[in-house]
Amino acid sequence: MTDLSTKHTHAPSDNGANKTDSPKSSRLPGFYKKSLTDRVAMVAKWADLSAEEQAVLLEQGLTAGQAANMIENGIGTTELPLGVACNFFINGRDYLIPMAVEEPSVLAAVSASAKLIREGGGFTATTTDPVMIGQIQLLDIPDLEVAAATIQAHKEELMAQANQCSPSIVARGGGARDIETRPFPDTPVGPMLIVHLLYDTRDAMGANAINTAVEAIAPRVAELSRGRANLRILSNLTDRRLARAVCTIPAAALATKEMSGAQVARQIAEANAFAVVDPYRAATHNKGIMNGIDAVCLATGNDWRAIEAGAHAYAARNGHYSALTDWHVDANGDLYGEIVLPLAVGVVGGATKVHPTAKVAMKILNVQSAAELAQIMACVGLAQNLAAIKAMATVGIQHGHMRMHARQVAMAAGTPDDLVETIAEQLINEENIRVERAKEILNMVREA
Ligand code: NDP
Repeated sequence: MTDLSTKHTHAPSDNGANKTDSPKSSRLPGFYKKSLTDRVAMVAKWADLSAEEQAVLLEQGLTAGQAANMIENGIGTTELPLGVACNFFINGRDYLIPMAVEEPSVLAAVSASAKLIREGGGFTATTTDPVMIGQIQLLDIPDLEVAAATIQAHKEELMAQANQCSPSIVARGGGARDIETRPFPDTPVGPMLIVHLLYDTRDAMGANAINTAVEAIAPRVAELSRGRANLRILSNLTDRRLARAVCTIPAAALATKEMSGAQVARQIAEANAFAVVDPYRAATHNKGIMNGIDAVCLATGNDWRAIEAGAHAYAARNGHYSALTDWHVDANGDLYGEIVLPLAVGVVGGATKVHPTAKVAMKILNVQSAAELAQIMACVGLAQNLAAIKAMATVGIQHGHMRMHARQVAMAAGTPDDLVETIAEQLINEENIRVERAKEILNMVREA
């Protein structure tokens, strides 16, 4: 059984009492109203960024030459907006969280939720050990049960062989943890035995270490099974590598002009229940969670496809695709939120130490381990989800979103950077957020 109860990277929060003890606060009131250069200067001060690192943010991060060495057939780069989410208080520490995303509202929404969650003492987040699963597919086996028992009897030998592949990971405290066998007597190609190598990859996402290990042990595993090995690859359903984040928001903090805090809390719980029972709603609910998590993955150079695959497979683990979160009203009448999902992310390897902007993003985050990064991502997912369901359960999603969207509409109308805010404001005032109207206003401004 996976235990998520213990592994904190930092001491858990004492329900808000130590809010002011944190040496640096991620509460940056009015950050969103500052100019781009002022924002970068504030973040630079916060994270002690050098002039070169600031230039990476303000000028081009990844060059075409660097990019062409990262992939094949390279012809350039494509850019995404990078922002920082404010207000996050996790396990007693403040974080500014870099997020790369093209969708308006995501940063504003997640920062607003994090501010609300601060009122209840912030987030408490935990992770399991970073145990990945490598799979070996075995076929043409005379007897599945005998093969499974033989492999189990040679478990220690196989794990020792796997450990020889990455002595550096073993030296860091990682390495093989277990061998499991999963018989599939009836498949479209006949009986099949799947062997799982459980392998702790420490601070790496670990694809290379785990793939190397399963490729190394597969010939011996096939021999023991008296069958033939076909695929040898990691699984992206990393359900032994989970992150969990929880928070409690005082009901009073949820009150709006029109609704009491208790009513908002109840309607948020109702919104979550909708996603628990209905896959059509759960897909959108979980997409909202991944808006935040993917954006942190992208900013830090992590593999967001791997994280997406793991999250959705985990959401369907009981044979019914469901919500990754739980929101309910607790015994005190406050709103309790929780998320659990697989988060196989790394702070070494992949693009994290290669992409110049990812390196700056990692410095802003200042995380010490893959576990800490996974904890942050779980908190971002929970906060992003709260923002969406709170909006839908109160004023509706479009109210806030269209205000943010107005800037993108102004840009789509060809508005130069220095006029985007003016045109967007006019569109909002007119409650007519359309490209055609933006073009008309732009012409009027130019002619004036
Ligand atoms: P790397 O192989 O680039 O980096 C991991 C290596 O870093 C380790 O093997 C280890 O090697 C070294 N290392 C240094 N410090 C540490 C530490 N503290 N803890 C652990 N390892 C450390 O990356 P990954 O193996 O993490 O692979 C990630 C990439 O794999 C991603 O880009 C992903 O896109 C890709 N990928 C994903 C797949 C999937 O999801 N299905 C499949 C295949 C690839 P050493 O010490 O020996 O130098």
